[in-house]
Amino acid sequence: MSRDIPLERVRNLGIMAHIDAGKTTLSERILYYTGRIHQMGEVHHGTTRLDHHPLEQKKGITIMSAATTAHWAPTRGLYEGQNHRLQLIDTPGHVDFTVEVERSLRVLDGAVAVFDAAHGVEPQSETVWRQADRYGVPRLAFINKMDKVGADFERSVESLVTRLHAPVLVLQLPYGEGVEHRGVIDLIHRRAYVFDERSHGRKYVAAEVPSELRDAVEMRRERLVERCAELDPTLTDRYLESGASSITTDEIERAIRRATLALQAVPVLCGSAFKNKGVQMLLDAVVKYLPSPADLRPVQGTDARTGAAIERPGRDDAPLCALAFKLVNDRNAGALTFLRVYSGTLRAGMAVVNASRDRRERVGRLVRMHADEQEEVTEAPAGSIVAAIGLRETRTGDTLCDPRSPVLLQSITVPEPVVTLAVETRDAANSERLATGLARLCLEDPSLAVATDEETGQTLLKGVGELHLEIVLDRLRTEYKVEARAGRPRVAWRETLGGSATVTWRHSVQSGGPGQFAVVVVEVAPGERDTGLVFSDETRGGVIPREFVQSVERGIRAAMERGIRNGRPVVDVRVKLIDGATHPVDSNAVAFEIAGSRAFQEAARQAGMVLLEPVMAVEVTTPDEFLGESLASVQSRRGHVRGMTAQRGAQVIEAEVPLASLFGYVGDLRSRTQGRAGATLRFARYERVPARLEGELLADE
Ligand code: GDP
Repeated sequence: MSRDIPLERVRNLGIMAHIDAGKTTLSERILYYTGRIHQMGEVHHGTTRLDHHPLEQKKGITIMSAATTAHWAPTRGLYEGQNHRLQLIDTPGHVDFTVEVERSLRVLDGAVAVFDAAHGVEPQSETVWRQADRYGVPRLAFINKMDKVGADFERSVESLVTRLHAPVLVLQLPYGEGVEHRGVIDLIHRRAYVFDERSHGRKYVAAEVPSELRDAVEMRRERLVERCAELDPTLTDRYLESGASSITTDEIERAIRRATLALQAVPVLCGSAFKNKGVQMLLDAVVKYLPSPADLRPVQGTDARTGAAIERPGRDDAPLCALAFKLVNDRNAGALTFLRVYSGTLRAGMAVVNASRDRRERVGRLVRMHADEQEEVTEAPAGSIVAAIGLRETRTGDTLCDPRSPVLLQSITVPEPVVTLAVETRDAANSERLATGLARLCLEDPSLAVATDEETGQTLLKGVGELHLEIVLDRLRTEYKVEARAGRPRVAWRETLGGSATVTWRHSVQSGGPGQFAVVVVEVAPGERDTGLVFSDETRGGVIPREFVQSVERGIRAAMERGIRNGRPVVDVRVKLIDGATHPVDSNAVAFEIAGSRAFQEAARQAGMVLLEPVMAVEVTTPDEFLGESLASVQSRRGHVRGMTAQRGAQVIEAEVPLASLFGYVGDLRSRTQGRAGATLRFARYERVPARLEGELLADE
């Protein structure tokens, strides 16, 4: 079996950041210094390679998760001179696209979190950080923009500790801040790196620490070594007996690596992507401290046949198991399915099983994506990230595996689509393009859903936020040439039962030929939150055969999806089937499905319906002087303030606010606070709307 680079030398990593922290600039510099691109494009001129979509440049947001490959060898210390493969997975910064973030977090092994040195931790970085915590992703922190006026390294590090509770390990100090910023100082090796502007920072000198910084460097280095000795039991005694000087630089770096992999430490580095300072040292740290696939525990899954928990080792000769994490329609290559191979070896032309759908698939060609080209490969061993061409049935989150030992990996959680938008086209040609475009976009993006409004015939887009749907519309216009009129974004309401009821429904059609006959008696009641339908068969003595009971349940589900009032889906109900009757000739599945459906509709009408609305967890960060305005902005929108924390001249308000009152919120908050407060929104749950408000809220539906 051929493997062009040992597994230990692979790093699958993502770069995560708040919008504008400099992720795109940094990614581009990485591709430049690793030799993947030969010229620097400026982000705002729209030539950066990782962002494929024009709109991303327009809004300055990275939406698409591209994966790209580069190589790097550290210049000093651990792994010095050893070439490593970096597989860079782009993670989007905007919270509306948490599904994108989640899916990248599933497939990467480590991450670089980028912060703006003038702001430190910002609300969105917090959300993404917590997601990375949830997936146990080892991280490095890069304090970017050290050249900016107002850049403050110490304060940024402090915000990592206070806001994120990150176990930071400071490995560098900036060599100058703001306009004085010249480079970075490596504490471990006691080197000052100063970068040459003319070569775009490609050339740099590693000088001695300047005398005026020597004391500060020694103090910080001492602290770093002490911490390493605490984290690494093999160093503790020696440190206590013989002090920091007895610990070698190699031992320090190995201790940092172990602690980072164990999530006990977050190494902190700094620099300026824009001014080309410190990026090479960050790449060294990626190789030194972030995990290779060989460092991971075997991937966990379930046996697709028995449901039993199983593990798959990350070995090339183990049975194949891979996760599809992204579908992209590439202008040149067509439909690409991005896969992370966890175990075994994926080969071009191979027959595999999609265990999530129980379908056979044939892998066509395999390509490794680089910044500016696609490299065709014949096989992808464990730990690889590749794109497959030719898969037909595979969707985001599906597991592909060896037909002889099918395994199911945990799928990707998709956030609730809580916002809907009605779209109308003028003519048939446009509606055809709309349908094609939406079918493709839905494939790429599992958090996008499409429905038809039965009354108006309009197409309804459902997504996770206003901005999400705005971007979908924009892509429909630019990529699929759809001319369409869109309504206002609206809340995706749901309903549940207000009380309970018992109904007997008799469905009987006897008109000569074969008839239909079914009688069902159902009892309905409101259910627990997030349970959907809890259906139980409580009939006695087989009055309704088993297969027909299933038909009744299917009919009820269909009625719930169609909704009782104005097409709003019904959720969280308990239904008991308590009695019924059949006819020896005329009873069949269809008859029972219809009876189930009608019985539920009637029972729901008798029980009464109540409206449910999505409530969002909102986090507002505001300078002290705008605290009053910010609190009012939440309270005036039916919000509840849950808590408040102070943070060096700023306050963080945690609140819960119904989505219906939040359209346009972020812009409004900005204008109330001279642009100084910001907010993030995340779906929390559906909650009952107070009856007195129903009419008002639904008035413009
Ligand atoms: P992204 O939204 O995280 O991808 O951020 P971008 O890379 O698009 O950068 C946002 C803005 O910050 C752009 O105007 C960049 O030129 C600027 N920027 C990025 N890195 C730096 C930096 O190191 N220093 C300064 N001063 N500006 C930077």
